[in-house]
Amino acid sequence: MTETRLRFPPSPTGYLHIGGARTALYNWLYAKKTGGKLILRIEDTDADRSTQESIQGILDGLEWLGIDWDEGPYFQTEFSNDHVAAAARLLDEGKAYKCFCTKEELEAKREIAQANKSTFGYDGTCRDLSAEQVAEKEAAGLPYVIRFKVPAREGSLGYEDKVLGHIKADYNEIEDFVIVRSTGKPLYLLCNVVDDIRDRITHIIRGQDHMTNTIRQVLLYEALDAPLPVFAHMPLTLDLKKAKISKRSHGEIVAVHFYREHGFIPWALSNFLVLLGWSSGDDTEFFSQEELIEAFTLERINKSNSIFNYRKGDAKFFTDPKAIAINEHYLRSMAVEEIAEMTQPFLEAEGLWDDAYAGEKKEWFLHTINLIRDRFHTLTDFGSLGRAYFADDFPVEAKPLKKNILKHEGLKEWLPMLADRYDALDDFNLEEAERVARELAEEVEVKPGVIINGMRTVVTGQLAGPSMFDILITIGRERVVQRLRNVGKLYQA
Ligand code: GLU
Repeated sequence: MTETRLRFPPSPTGYLHIGGARTALYNWLYAKKTGGKLILRIEDTDADRSTQESIQGILDGLEWLGIDWDEGPYFQTEFSNDHVAAAARLLDEGKAYKCFCTKEELEAKREIAQANKSTFGYDGTCRDLSAEQVAEKEAAGLPYVIRFKVPAREGSLGYEDKVLGHIKADYNEIEDFVIVRSTGKPLYLLCNVVDDIRDRITHIIRGQDHMTNTIRQVLLYEALDAPLPVFAHMPLTLDLKKAKISKRSHGEIVAVHFYREHGFIPWALSNFLVLLGWSSGDDTEFFSQEELIEAFTLERINKSNSIFNYRKGDAKFFTDPKAIAINEHYLRSMAVEEIAEMTQPFLEAEGLWDDAYAGEKKEWFLHTINLIRDRFHTLTDFGSLGRAYFADDFPVEAKPLKKNILKHEGLKEWLPMLADRYDALDDFNLEEAERVARELAEEVEVKPGVIINGMRTVVTGQLAGPSMFDILITIGRERVVQRLRNVGKLYQA
């Protein structure tokens, strides 16, 4: 069997969006699965819209997601000679022709067609010009485009799509399409095929939005005597209103960097994106990389549109809740060392990072991350909801303040009493901390919950969290004592 060769060819006209990342992932998975190669090609022929910033964003995004490639990045603009040569070859072989029709002429024909309610396709005015006629027009300096000569006017053509089955189109639905502009610049449709032929691409996995291109590109492969690659078209991704998700209408939420900034674990995002258009056939939702490479097949790519469960404005979550659920799963189940490492930039952003967390305080740090990760949704939570573990200036949430502190005036006395007792303990451990707290509750004749909830509020600022005594030991006696003694401040506001 020949080696499988896949490609990811983004146009660098914006950030890497989740649709692009999904395409990259499918190609990457299939290359890995088949022991083939993934080629990264930056399709930068649109000079007006391509930017260096976007190229960098795409490379960073792929790297963050862990999508690596075997060849490239190639840049399409470096191969413009190939594109021009292919157009020249098609002209030479009579498979393309120069078309001198002006914009105005084409526009007028389009209007007539519209009035007759027929769809306008180029009517072939220049298709059969004689060599003399062409020479004459050229000599007169008339501008021209190069059109591909669709080889038949009747009958149909088709290809086998790995996802959608046999795809067919009638020749009469395909006009003689332009392959080179009047400026001499070859069009994307041609460049893309020429590059795929040169790069010996065997499989093309891309969105269904490219299908109108594919049918015309099938003609180009034939005309250039190249074997047809395998095509697999992926479903589109729609939002809850059935609108295609796009940068324009959904903004940053479709950008890969948005997920990075909002504390997603890269593999969690990948896992989510793969399921957006593919399923294993059973209900499995979580896959390790190896499992996914093993399970992934083109045949199981969904035919119908995938739904991105998000509606602007009324969203309770900042993105599809399923994406968050998958992130939570990895946050909880990955090795604590890995999670701890990933929290660093988020703690740094909040001024909470201490280099000792990677050195002499590492054991404490890992223990703390492990303790608090169970209730968190994203990595950003470590720097926000986790603040009380890493700093003394943390906010106290309104709800526990009201319910657990202000309602119980007695805590003003009891918590400082508790602080003194903790301070005096020989050994500040789980059992002792709990025993002393319960004893005090009994003494002052309140339910233990009053003391414990009050303590949780002054120590963490929050209503809920891990087991209170685990928290105390983790935060440490000195800080706990100080926070308990300061309870009075909470009544002052
Ligand atoms: N540059 C194209 C895009 O970003 C690539 C399409 C293709 O896969 O052929 O949409």
